[in-house]
Amino acid sequence: MYDLIIIGAGTAGLSAAVYGVRAGKRVLLLEEQVYGGQILSAVEVENYPGIRRISGYEFAENLYRQATELGAELRYEKAVKIREEGGEKTVITNRSGYACRAVILATGAKKRRLGLEREEELTGAGISYCATCDGAFYRGKDTAVTGGGNTALEDALFLSGYCRKVYLIHRRDWFRGEERLVRALKEKENVVMVMESRIIRLNGKAHLETVTVKNSRTEREEELLVAGLFIAVGQEPDNRAFSDAVRLDASGYVEAGEDCRTGRAGIFTAGDCRTKEVRQLATAAADGAVAALAACAYMEQSSWQ
Ligand code: NAP
Repeated sequence: MYDLIIIGAGTAGLSAAVYGVRAGKRVLLLEEQVYGGQILSAVEVENYPGIRRISGYEFAENLYRQATELGAELRYEKAVKIREEGGEKTVITNRSGYACRAVILATGAKKRRLGLEREEELTGAGISYCATCDGAFYRGKDTAVTGGGNTALEDALFLSGYCRKVYLIHRRDWFRGEERLVRALKEKENVVMVMESRIIRLNGKAHLETVTVKNSRTEREEELLVAGLFIAVGQEPDNRAFSDAVRLDASGYVEAGEDCRTGRAGIFTAGDCRTKEVRQLATAAADGAVAALAACAYMEQSSWQ
Protein backbone atom coordinates (compact mmCIF):
# COMPACT_ATOMS: atom_id res chain seq x y z
CA MET A 1 0.00 0.00 0.00
CA TYR A 2 1.32 3.41 -0.99
CA ASP A 3 0.58 6.63 0.83
CA LEU A 4 0.47 8.69 -2.33
CA ILE A 5 0.06 7.79 -5.98
CA ILE A 6 0.87 10.49 -8.52
CA ILE A 7 -0.50 9.97 -12.01
CA GLY A 8 1.90 11.61 -14.47
CA ALA A 9 5.66 12.17 -14.17
CA GLY A 10 6.01 15.61 -15.75
CA THR A 11 7.19 18.67 -13.85
CA ALA A 12 4.08 18.83 -11.63
CA GLY A 13 4.08 15.10 -10.83
CA LEU A 14 7.82 14.88 -10.14
CA SER A 15 7.71 18.03 -7.98
CA ALA A 16 4.82 16.51 -6.00
CA ALA A 17 6.89 13.34 -5.56
CA VAL A 18 9.82 15.35 -4.15
CA TYR A 19 7.53 16.96 -1.57
CA GLY A 20 5.75 13.68 -0.82
CA VAL A 21 8.89 11.65 -0.10
CA ARG A 22 10.45 14.47 1.88
CA ALA A 23 7.33 14.40 4.08
CA GLY A 24 8.10 10.73 4.76
CA LYS A 25 5.41 9.26 2.50
CA ARG A 26 5.66 6.17 0.34
CA VAL A 27 5.16 7.58 -3.16
CA LEU A 28 4.46 5.86 -6.47
CA LEU A 29 4.57 7.74 -9.78
CA LEU A 30 2.68 6.22 -12.70
CA GLU A 31 3.77 7.32 -16.15
CA GLU A 32 2.38 6.15 -19.47
CA GLN A 33 5.27 7.26 -21.69
CA VAL A 34 8.49 8.97 -20.59
CA TYR A 35 9.21 10.97 -17.46
CA GLY A 36 9.77 14.70 -17.84
CA GLY A 37 6.59 15.74 -19.64
CA GLN A 38 6.37 18.65 -22.02
CA ILE A 39 9.54 20.41 -20.89
CA LEU A 40 11.50 17.64 -22.62
CA SER A 41 10.80 19.34 -25.95
CA ALA A 42 12.05 22.77 -24.82
CA VAL A 43 15.46 23.58 -26.26
CA GLU A 44 16.29 26.00 -23.51
CA VAL A 45 14.56 27.15 -20.35
CA GLU A 46 15.37 30.71 -19.33
CA ASN A 47 12.45 31.59 -17.11
CA TYR A 48 12.62 29.13 -14.22
CA PRO A 49 13.50 31.23 -11.18
CA GLY A 50 16.98 30.53 -9.85
CA ILE A 51 18.22 28.71 -12.94
CA ARG A 52 19.65 31.10 -15.50
CA ARG A 53 19.64 28.68 -18.42
CA ILE A 54 19.11 24.94 -18.78
CA SER A 55 17.95 22.59 -21.51
CA GLY A 56 14.48 21.08 -21.07
CA TYR A 57 16.03 17.61 -21.11
CA GLU A 58 18.52 18.43 -18.35
CA PHE A 59 15.80 20.05 -16.25
CA ALA A 60 13.62 16.93 -16.54
CA GLU A 61 16.53 14.60 -15.83
CA ASN A 62 17.54 16.56 -12.71
CA LEU A 63 13.98 16.54 -11.39
CA TYR A 64 13.55 12.82 -12.07
CA ARG A 65 16.81 12.02 -10.27
CA GLN A 66 15.91 14.27 -7.37
CA ALA A 67 12.55 12.52 -6.90
CA THR A 68 13.82 8.95 -7.31
CA GLU A 69 17.03 9.41 -5.32
CA LEU A 70 14.89 10.73 -2.47
CA GLY A 71 12.86 7.51 -2.67
CA ALA A 72 9.94 7.91 -5.09
CA GLU A 73 9.16 4.83 -7.22
CA LEU A 74 8.26 5.14 -10.89
CA ARG A 75 6.32 2.56 -12.90
CA TYR A 76 5.63 2.83 -16.61
CA GLU A 77 1.93 2.00 -16.54
CA LYS A 78 -1.13 3.79 -17.82
CA ALA A 79 -3.61 4.69 -15.07
CA VAL A 80 -7.09 3.96 -16.34
CA LYS A 81 -9.34 4.41 -13.30
CA ILE A 82 -9.48 5.43 -9.66
CA ARG A 83 -11.64 3.09 -7.60
CA GLU A 84 -12.74 3.89 -4.06
CA GLU A 85 -13.94 1.41 -1.47
CA GLY A 86 -14.46 2.32 2.19
CA GLY A 87 -12.16 5.35 2.00
CA GLU A 88 -9.31 3.34 0.42
CA LYS A 89 -8.36 4.23 -3.11
CA THR A 90 -7.07 1.90 -5.78
CA VAL A 91 -5.49 3.20 -8.95
CA ILE A 92 -6.15 0.69 -11.72
CA THR A 93 -3.56 0.60 -14.49
CA ASN A 94 -3.28 -1.28 -17.77
CA ARG A 95 -1.26 -3.93 -15.87
CA SER A 96 -2.26 -3.90 -12.24
CA GLY A 97 -3.92 -2.04 -9.37
CA TYR A 98 -2.28 -0.14 -6.49
CA ALA A 99 -3.92 0.78 -3.21
CA CYS A 100 -3.16 4.16 -1.67
CA ARG A 101 -4.41 6.79 0.73
CA ALA A 102 -4.30 9.79 -1.61
CA VAL A 103 -3.97 10.47 -5.33
CA ILE A 104 -2.60 13.42 -7.29
CA LEU A 105 -3.68 13.76 -10.90
CA ALA A 106 -0.80 15.37 -12.81
CA THR A 107 -1.61 14.10 -16.28
CA GLY A 108 -0.47 17.26 -18.08
CA ALA A 109 -1.76 17.98 -21.56
CA LYS A 110 -1.17 16.62 -25.04
CA LYS A 111 -0.34 18.48 -28.24
CA ARG A 112 -3.47 19.68 -30.00
CA ARG A 113 -4.04 18.46 -33.58
CA LEU A 114 -5.03 20.80 -36.40
CA GLY A 115 -7.74 18.34 -37.33
CA LEU A 116 -6.88 18.29 -41.04
CA GLU A 117 -7.33 15.41 -43.40
CA ARG A 118 -4.11 13.32 -43.69
CA GLU A 119 -2.66 14.84 -40.50
CA GLU A 120 -2.35 11.46 -38.74
CA GLU A 121 -1.14 9.68 -41.90
CA LEU A 122 1.66 12.21 -42.51
CA THR A 123 2.78 12.43 -38.88
CA GLY A 124 6.35 11.16 -38.96
CA ALA A 125 6.39 11.71 -42.73
CA GLY A 126 6.87 15.47 -42.73
CA ILE A 127 4.55 16.40 -39.88
CA SER A 128 5.89 16.75 -36.36
CA TYR A 129 4.73 18.18 -33.04
CA CYS A 130 8.24 18.54 -31.62
CA ALA A 131 10.82 20.77 -33.29
CA THR A 132 13.59 19.91 -30.85
CA CYS A 133 13.05 16.17 -31.46
CA ASP A 134 12.76 16.24 -35.26
CA GLY A 135 14.20 19.59 -36.40
CA ALA A 136 17.61 18.18 -37.30
CA PHE A 137 16.01 15.98 -40.03
CA TYR A 138 15.21 19.17 -41.93
CA ARG A 139 18.67 20.68 -42.05
CA GLY A 140 19.01 22.87 -45.19
CA LYS A 141 15.34 22.35 -46.14
CA ASP A 142 12.28 24.59 -46.17
CA THR A 143 9.85 24.04 -43.31
CA ALA A 144 6.79 25.61 -41.73
CA VAL A 145 5.62 26.11 -38.17
CA THR A 146 2.01 26.86 -37.35
CA GLY A 147 0.77 28.51 -34.17
CA GLY A 148 1.13 31.85 -32.42
CA GLY A 149 2.08 30.97 -28.84
CA ASN A 150 5.48 30.64 -27.19
CA THR A 151 5.91 27.09 -28.44
CA ALA A 152 5.46 28.07 -32.11
CA LEU A 153 7.75 31.09 -31.72
CA GLU A 154 10.47 29.07 -30.00
CA ASP A 155 10.13 26.27 -32.57
CA ALA A 156 10.50 28.75 -35.46
CA LEU A 157 13.58 30.30 -33.81
CA PHE A 158 15.11 26.88 -33.24
CA LEU A 159 14.43 25.73 -36.82
CA SER A 160 15.80 28.98 -38.28
CA GLY A 161 19.22 27.72 -37.14
CA TYR A 162 18.91 24.52 -39.22
CA CYS A 163 16.56 25.18 -42.11
CA ARG A 164 16.94 27.16 -45.30
CA LYS A 165 13.60 28.86 -44.83
CA VAL A 166 10.98 28.73 -42.07
CA TYR A 167 7.41 29.88 -42.71
CA LEU A 168 5.62 30.85 -39.53
CA ILE A 169 1.91 30.49 -40.24
CA HIS A 170 -0.51 32.06 -37.79
CA ARG A 171 -4.26 32.55 -38.00
CA ARG A 172 -4.24 36.08 -36.55
CA ASP A 173 -2.26 39.30 -37.13
CA TRP A 174 -0.60 39.25 -33.70
CA PHE A 175 1.13 36.61 -31.63
CA ARG A 176 0.09 35.61 -28.15
CA GLY A 177 3.67 34.50 -27.45
CA GLU A 178 6.34 36.73 -25.88
CA GLU A 179 7.38 39.96 -27.61
CA ARG A 180 11.04 39.11 -27.02
CA LEU A 181 10.66 36.01 -29.22
CA VAL A 182 8.71 37.92 -31.90
CA ARG A 183 11.52 40.50 -32.08
CA ALA A 184 14.17 37.79 -32.36
CA LEU A 185 12.24 36.14 -35.20
CA LYS A 186 11.85 39.40 -37.10
CA GLU A 187 15.63 39.66 -37.17
CA LYS A 188 16.00 36.26 -38.86
CA GLU A 189 16.37 36.61 -42.60
CA ASN A 190 15.20 33.05 -43.27
CA VAL A 191 11.92 33.38 -41.32
CA VAL A 192 8.83 34.37 -43.32
CA MET A 193 5.71 35.28 -41.34
CA VAL A 194 2.46 34.23 -42.97
CA MET A 195 -0.14 36.03 -40.89
CA GLU A 196 -3.95 35.83 -40.78
CA SER A 197 -3.67 32.50 -42.51
CA ARG A 198 -4.66 28.93 -41.84
CA ILE A 199 -3.41 25.71 -43.33
CA ILE A 200 -6.33 24.16 -45.17
CA ARG A 201 -4.67 21.20 -46.93
CA LEU A 202 -1.69 18.91 -46.47
CA ASN A 203 -0.33 17.65 -49.79
CA GLY A 204 2.16 15.01 -50.88
CA LYS A 205 2.37 11.34 -51.77
CA ALA A 206 4.01 9.27 -49.04
CA HIS A 207 5.64 12.36 -47.48
CA LEU A 208 4.49 15.93 -46.98
CA GLU A 209 5.48 18.08 -49.99
CA THR A 210 3.37 21.23 -49.75
CA VAL A 211 0.82 22.90 -47.53
CA THR A 212 -2.06 24.98 -48.85
CA VAL A 213 -2.58 28.15 -46.86
CA LYS A 214 -5.61 30.42 -47.01
CA ASN A 215 -5.53 34.06 -45.97
CA SER A 216 -8.65 34.70 -43.89
CA ARG A 217 -8.90 38.39 -44.89
CA THR A 218 -8.27 38.14 -48.65
CA GLU A 219 -9.44 34.49 -49.00
CA ARG A 220 -6.41 33.97 -51.27
CA GLU A 221 -4.95 30.47 -51.33
CA GLU A 222 -1.23 29.80 -51.64
CA GLU A 223 0.78 26.59 -51.83
CA LEU A 224 4.02 26.56 -49.83
CA LEU A 225 6.69 24.01 -50.71
CA VAL A 226 7.86 22.54 -47.42
CA ALA A 227 9.58 19.31 -46.43
CA GLY A 228 8.38 19.59 -42.86
CA LEU A 229 5.51 21.09 -40.90
CA PHE A 230 5.75 21.64 -37.15
CA ILE A 231 2.35 21.98 -35.51
CA ALA A 232 2.37 24.06 -32.30
CA VAL A 233 -1.26 25.05 -31.78
CA GLY A 234 -1.49 24.48 -28.05
CA GLN A 235 -2.47 21.60 -25.90
CA GLU A 236 -5.47 19.74 -24.61
CA PRO A 237 -5.88 17.59 -21.52
CA ASP A 238 -6.82 13.94 -21.46
CA ASN A 239 -8.54 13.23 -18.16
CA ARG A 240 -11.48 11.23 -19.51
CA ALA A 241 -10.46 8.12 -17.58
CA PHE A 242 -10.98 10.02 -14.32
CA SER A 243 -14.27 11.75 -15.17
CA ASP A 244 -16.20 9.64 -12.68
CA ALA A 245 -13.71 10.42 -9.88
CA VAL A 246 -13.36 14.21 -10.30
CA ARG A 247 -15.22 17.05 -12.01
CA LEU A 248 -13.90 18.13 -15.43
CA ASP A 249 -14.68 21.44 -17.13
CA ALA A 250 -16.08 21.67 -20.66
CA SER A 251 -12.54 21.44 -22.14
CA GLY A 252 -11.64 18.40 -20.04
CA TYR A 253 -9.45 20.09 -17.40
CA VAL A 254 -9.78 18.88 -13.80
CA GLU A 255 -11.72 21.52 -11.88
CA ALA A 256 -9.62 22.85 -9.02
CA GLY A 257 -8.42 26.12 -7.57
CA GLU A 258 -4.93 27.24 -6.56
CA ASP A 259 -5.16 24.88 -3.55
CA CYS A 260 -5.12 21.94 -6.01
CA ARG A 261 -8.13 20.31 -4.30
CA THR A 262 -10.60 18.60 -6.60
CA GLY A 263 -13.55 18.58 -4.23
CA ARG A 264 -13.21 14.81 -3.87
CA ALA A 265 -11.62 13.80 -0.55
CA GLY A 266 -8.09 12.49 -1.02
CA ILE A 267 -7.85 13.33 -4.73
CA PHE A 268 -5.73 16.33 -5.70
CA THR A 269 -4.51 17.71 -9.00
CA ALA A 270 -1.44 19.60 -10.19
CA GLY A 271 -0.04 21.24 -13.29
CA ASP A 272 -1.36 21.71 -16.80
CA CYS A 273 -4.19 19.17 -16.43
CA ARG A 274 -6.14 21.40 -14.04
CA THR A 275 -8.18 24.55 -14.64
CA LYS A 276 -5.80 27.51 -14.30
CA GLU A 277 -4.79 30.79 -15.87
CA VAL A 278 -1.03 30.39 -16.18
CA ARG A 279 0.54 27.21 -17.52
CA GLN A 280 4.27 27.58 -17.01
CA LEU A 281 7.10 25.41 -15.75
CA ALA A 282 7.23 27.41 -12.52
CA THR A 283 3.48 27.08 -11.92
CA ALA A 284 3.60 23.32 -12.62
CA ALA A 285 6.36 22.89 -10.01
CA ALA A 286 4.46 25.13 -7.57
CA ASP A 287 1.30 23.05 -8.05
CA GLY A 288 3.28 19.88 -7.34
CA ALA A 289 4.36 21.28 -3.97
CA VAL A 290 0.87 22.57 -3.10
CA ALA A 291 -0.88 19.32 -4.09
CA ALA A 292 1.62 17.10 -2.24
CA LEU A 293 1.41 19.14 0.96
CA ALA A 294 -2.40 19.16 0.74
CA ALA A 295 -2.34 15.36 0.26
CA CYS A 296 -0.05 15.00 3.31
CA ALA A 297 -2.39 17.16 5.41
CA TYR A 298 -5.33 15.02 4.25
CA MET A 299 -3.50 11.81 5.26
CA GLU A 300 -2.66 13.23 8.70
CA GLN A 301 -6.28 14.27 9.23
CA SER A 302 -7.74 10.97 8.06
CA SER A 303 -5.36 8.98 10.30
CA TRP A 304 -6.73 10.82 13.39
CA GLN A 305 -10.31 9.89 12.51
P1 NAP B 1 -0.86 28.47 -26.66
O1 NAP B 1 -0.19 29.56 -25.90
O2 NAP B 1 -2.20 28.01 -26.22
O3 NAP B 1 -0.93 28.94 -28.17
C1 NAP B 1 -1.54 28.16 -29.13
C2 NAP B 1 -1.51 28.92 -30.44
O4 NAP B 1 -2.05 28.08 -31.46
C3 NAP B 1 -2.31 30.20 -30.40
O5 NAP B 1 -1.59 31.22 -31.03
C4 NAP B 1 -3.58 29.85 -31.18
O6 NAP B 1 -4.06 30.91 -31.94
C5 NAP B 1 -3.08 28.78 -32.13
N1 NAP B 1 -4.12 27.81 -32.44
C6 NAP B 1 -4.90 27.09 -31.59
N2 NAP B 1 -5.71 26.25 -32.27
C7 NAP B 1 -5.44 26.45 -33.57
C8 NAP B 1 -5.95 25.88 -34.75
N3 NAP B 1 -6.88 24.92 -34.73
N4 NAP B 1 -5.46 26.31 -35.93
C9 NAP B 1 -4.48 27.26 -35.97
N5 NAP B 1 -3.95 27.83 -34.87
C10 NAP B 1 -4.43 27.44 -33.69
O7 NAP B 1 0.05 27.13 -26.72
P2 NAP B 1 1.63 26.92 -26.56
O8 NAP B 1 2.37 27.86 -27.40
O9 NAP B 1 1.85 25.48 -26.73
O10 NAP B 1 1.88 27.30 -25.04
C11 NAP B 1 1.16 26.64 -23.99
C12 NAP B 1 1.56 27.26 -22.64
O11 NAP B 1 2.92 26.96 -22.38
C13 NAP B 1 1.43 28.78 -22.66
O12 NAP B 1 1.03 29.20 -21.37
C14 NAP B 1 2.83 29.24 -22.94
O13 NAP B 1 3.13 30.53 -22.45
C15 NAP B 1 3.63 28.16 -22.21
N6 NAP B 1 4.99 28.06 -22.82
C16 NAP B 1 5.97 28.81 -22.24
C17 NAP B 1 7.23 28.78 -22.77
C18 NAP B 1 8.29 29.62 -22.12
O14 NAP B 1 7.97 30.34 -21.18
N7 NAP B 1 9.54 29.58 -22.57
C19 NAP B 1 7.53 27.99 -23.88
C20 NAP B 1 6.50 27.25 -24.46
C21 NAP B 1 5.22 27.30 -23.92
P3 NAP B 1 -4.72 32.21 -31.28
O15 NAP B 1 -3.59 33.01 -30.74
O16 NAP B 1 -5.41 32.83 -32.43
O17 NAP B 1 -5.65 31.70 -30.23
